[in-house]
Amino acid sequence: MEEKITLTIGKQKNIALIAHDGKKAELIKWCAENKEILTQHFLCGTGTTARMISDKTGLPVRGYNSGPLGGDQQIGAKIVEGRIDLIVFFSDPLTAQPHDPDVKALMRIAQVYDIPMAINKASADFIIKSEYMNTAYDHDVINFQKNIRDRAQTL
Ligand code: PGA
Repeated sequence: MEEKITLTIGKQKNIALIAHDGKKAELIKWCAENKEILTQHFLCGTGTTARMISDKTGLPVRGYNSGPLGGDQQIGAKIVEGRIDLIVFFSDPLTAQPHDPDVKALMRIAQVYDIPMAINKASADFIIKSEYMNTAYDHDVINFQKNIRDRAQTL
């Protein structure tokens, strides 16, 4: 069995915001509706989403590359580094995406690191109203250092 380590998601969270083109308007509206809560946290997002949210709501959102140009992968890498605490990703289930493998990879790495991820407005609403938005949250994550040590010894 994998040994776990306890990591803490702080009270003030690093939130990644992503929306596919067909869902951008919906995410911008959601950000505007939840502006008071979102201003209490650090925001980042894929390039176009981040720019549009900033322009339309005035919220400061640090932008990475556009999703199809690697932005989802940048956000995935930040999860691995422990620098993203929550993802709000309004993905479009009805439109084929050129970067579908990147989207899958982001979901997978969020699962590996036990990072909460909202995939639509209802799940985003449930998460943003959660008591854990106002407190630190301890969670058990695979002990990656031990994992490497064990693998290096046994393989
Ligand atoms: P975008 O990327 O914010 O640059 O449009 C989002 C995505 O399609 O993953």
